[in-house]
Amino acid sequence: MKKAQFKSVSTFRKDILSGEWILVATGRRSRPGAEKIKSEKRTSFPIGYCPFENPQKNNETAVLWYAKPEVSASDSIDDWFLQVIPNKYPVLSPHQVCPVLNPVGPYQVMDGVGFHEVIITRDHEKTMADMTIGEIGLILRAYIERFVSIKNEDCIEYILIFHNHGPRAGASVSHPHSQLIALPIIPPDVARSLDGSRLYFGKNKICAHCAILDFELSEKIRIIYENEEFVAFCPYAPRSSFEVRIYPRAHQAHFESINYETRKNLAAAFKAVLEKIRGAMNDPDYNFLIHTAPAKNNNEEHYHWHVEVLPRINIWAGLELGTGIVVVAVSPEEAAETLRNF
Ligand code: AMP
Ligand code: ZN
Repeated sequence: MKKAQFKSVSTFRKDILSGEWILVATGRRSRPGAEKIKSEKRTSFPIGYCPFENPQKNNETAVLWYAKPEVSASDSIDDWFLQVIPNKYPVLSPHQVCPVLNPVGPYQVMDGVGFHEVIITRDHEKTMADMTIGEIGLILRAYIERFVSIKNEDCIEYILIFHNHGPRAGASVSHPHSQLIALPIIPPDVARSLDGSRLYFGKNKICAHCAILDFELSEKIRIIYENEEFVAFCPYAPRSSFEVRIYPRAHQAHFESINYETRKNLAAAFKAVLEKIRGAMNDPDYNFLIHTAPAKNNNEEHYHWHVEVLPRINIWAGLELGTGIVVVAVSPEEAAETLRNF
């Protein structure tokens, strides 16, 4: 691989002791609602100032768009229900050549190349919990279409799709949107999870996630929702109070391989889970993320893709930052009972 000749929007830096990567992306400070250097309250945009109301007015080109279901045959983007645009303040920028790891003293550094896109639905107020199963299904279709188009690009190792809801979840724009970020590395968290899954499979000849699912389905105490193809439960060792994971019953490593029928069932599971979280906890801020196998590697069939929904009601304090051990004040069994009955 050759050294990149251009200036990327960011640089990856590696902590050589922990192996963790961080990104320095100073251009992010220009984005609307960005954190300031001096602590300030974040702004929330009135509809007239919202950057996602009419992206074409700001000369954004949609890389993908779908019309509103009632005018689905329209070929005018004025009728959009959903559109995907490049992030104007990207964390990673498109590349001509793959980045290489360079030493800086005892450290390691690499250009921040990749793709960063925003998936926007039209209504400024309508959150995913308010949408119909059909509308959520269209969002999932966009996730998959973009994932599939980007996964074979040079240098892309991992694609993360996520959704930030509310300022405590890091949302700088309140208009409902999700993001796709395509990375030139397998992030350490994902690598750890893949390693754990591979090791368990090697030892037990069964997928760790299938084993978890079997146990949860037999115990029932942490399950909050089930349909034909998906099960949602509060994990035994959560990272936040009221964390929920949504798993396909069938073993499948790659999220992007799901078909139309499965997408409909996943949309129904999303709707149920997000409504329960909103209802039971008075619309908390949350993140959800899709954990799936790496973009190109087909040797990770032991993995089992799933969705993690993390309400942001705990604040990481000294104990968590100092030890990595999260303290939750609500047990997953109590959380499940509350969510199940809502
Ligand atoms: P969040 O911070 O989760 O609310 O995500 C909003 C994202 O939208 C941020 O990553 C911004 O960089 C990005 N963004 C803000 N304004 C625009 C814009 N006009 N066009 C494209 N992306 C934008
Ligand atoms: Zn808006």
